[in-house]
Amino acid sequence: MNKDHPVNERETESSEAVASSDLPGPESPSAKDFRANRRPLLERVYQSLRGQILTGELKAEERLESEHQLAARFLVSRPVVRDALQRLREEKLIYSRRGAGSFVRMRPVQEPSERAFGFAPVETIADIQRCYEFRLTIEPEHAYQAALRWNVEALDAIGSAVDLMRDATLAHRHHDDADFAFHAAIAEATNNHYFLETMAALRAHISVGMHFHGVALLGPRGGLSGVFDEHAGIFQAIRKRDAQRARDLMRHHLEGSRDRIFEGRMLDLSL
Ligand SMILES: [Zn+2]
Repeated sequence: MNKDHPVNERETESSEAVASSDLPGPESPSAKDFRANRRPLLERVYQSLRGQILTGELKAEERLESEHQLAARFLVSRPVVRDALQRLREEKLIYSRRGAGSFVRMRPVQEPSERAFGFAPVETIADIQRCYEFRLTIEPEHAYQAALRWNVEALDAIGSAVDLMRDATLAHRHHDDADFAFHAAIAEATNNHYFLETMAALRAHISVGMHFHGVALLGPRGGLSGVFDEHAGIFQAIRKRDAQRARDLMRHHLEGSRDRIFEGRMLDLSL
């Protein structure tokens, strides 16, 4: 490809680079190369830390490693680490205290990191229904891909969430966070960060539905242990690499959750 051609350049570079290429004046090739090389490194550090926070591997109020340690772990320079941390700060996933380092924010659920995505807050029952409708289009696919692609670490993360849900079920509680961690860990096991990012962006929305679902399960109709079995079944299908079954069970679980909330009285969303 002819890199000197301005149209090609616009097509192949990210919005950040496009914006700067709109600036007047010549730019040295070395500066451009530097930025182009640096971006994937930044993305790798950012995605990795973000994944650790969203899946609960890094707990609320836990201190992140120092810039120096992170630079050593990811084999990148400290400015790259600083930029990745800055992005996490802007998304309100971490905060920093002078001299003490960076910490995972207490409840990222209530701190909508999804602003960049442009999803509005869940304000209506209709949105809960829409959220389940949307989850049904992506999460069965997460389960399918996770079954084909998991490694031991990714499977352990799903298993840990199942363990938390088992404990909560035995104590007759619904553990909203463990439920989210389970679904996020499956998204992570797909090794496709777009899936996990979408779950992260929707976290506050999904949590509203999970909360109502938990309330419904603790009501007179019950169903807590049945829902635990649904999660355990999905986990087993993924573990056995039975992708088709994992997909079917995830669809069944989400439809079941939605129906338990709405008790079959779905809203007509026709325009
Ligand atoms: Zn669930």
